[in-house]
Amino acid sequence: MTRNPVERALMTRGIDSALARKLREEKWTLAKLRMQRPEKLLELGLSESVVPKILGKGRPPIPTDLLIKTLYDNRWLCCVCRDAERPVVVHHIKSWAESRDHSPANLAVLCSIHHGEAHSTHALELTLTADRLKAMKGAWEQSVSRDDQLAIFKSTQLMSCQWWYFNHLRVFEIAEHVGVEITQLKGFQGALSNGACDGEGYLCPTEGLLYVGQARSLSLYRFMSSMLKAAIGHAFVRNISDELDRGTLDILVTPGDLVFVQGSYHFTDIPDGSGADMVRGRRSVNKVEITFVFDRNEGTSGSARTEWLLGVRSLGCLLRANKLERDIKGILHIEATVLAIRSAHEELKTRMYEIGLYRSGLIGHEVEDEEWDDSEPDDDE
Ligand SMILES: [Zn+2]
Repeated sequence: MTRNPVERALMTRGIDSALARKLREEKWTLAKLRMQRPEKLLELGLSESVVPKILGKGRPPIPTDLLIKTLYDNRWLCCVCRDAERPVVVHHIKSWAESRDHSPANLAVLCSIHHGEAHSTHALELTLTADRLKAMKGAWEQSVSRDDQLAIFKSTQLMSCQWWYFNHLRVFEIAEHVGVEITQLKGFQGALSNGACDGEGYLCPTEGLLYVGQARSLSLYRFMSSMLKAAIGHAFVRNISDELDRGTLDILVTPGDLVFVQGSYHFTDIPDGSGADMVRGRRSVNKVEITFVFDRNEGTSGSARTEWLLGVRSLGCLLRANKLERDIKGILHIEATVLAIRSAHEELKTRMYEIGLYRSGLIGHEVEDEEWDDSEPDDDE
């Protein structure tokens, strides 16, 4: 996702991602482009349909938050060809003139080639009709969200990667809520026969610890992994590991959302004298701070409790966002409930790279203040 507001502002006016980036690199801003004559804009590579949108005579710009949502939900890829090499443009499925509709349901991400096809007719027939586009966009967005979930679980099937913590109570609640048959889950019989849970699947702690004894620990681990998988199999989980930018995050995440965040976490103890081993987890990056509290005694092994959930660690956390708040310094605070914590895995990053999240090349690029021109008022039509 481009963090650059100049590029976003240009894309809200129908400019494709590659041209938006080129213009920004050449120090153009929306304000500067607006002071040019139409001929100059054409010379810069803007198309005839885009020029009036820049000069304020065409359709109003797509609201930035809707642009960001649409681009994110499609991972910056054309929903027709999904080719990461091609620049993309945000297209109105039903034309603005006809629909006056900027809602995400009416927006599709298309590469320049398929954008052309959506606007041209072959033998008097539109190949990419609104209905076809809608179906392709729907299918792609669905497979993107499924991919996020697969990625979260796939790497935990490798020995090098495992869950260090489950929030047993919350995972259990979610699983029940979405209708998972707890006693039919893989691992239930084992957990039951090893005394880790009762006949209904409720957990039985031993002196505060859940994972004690090898047979009990292994069977409970297996039971909980399959419960977590079943529980979130019904939910929509966003992997926002690479989206921790306060400018886009409060648009992408609303309270109640499930998100997966991989990166460096800092754990500090909270003494409370109750016998629980309460810990605060914190991840802080790009003026975004995510915090949650959990009981280390629920860690899935001795090494989880004495090694992995201490100090500073690179991990992946599955979280439910409870509250998003921006303080006076502009830092976005997200209070979350942690559902599960696992070791970090490179594969996730590689996959994100492959699907093109890094294609903008702007990850890590800090925006200069003078580049912000997002907020300038739009000209009336
Ligand atoms: Zn395409």
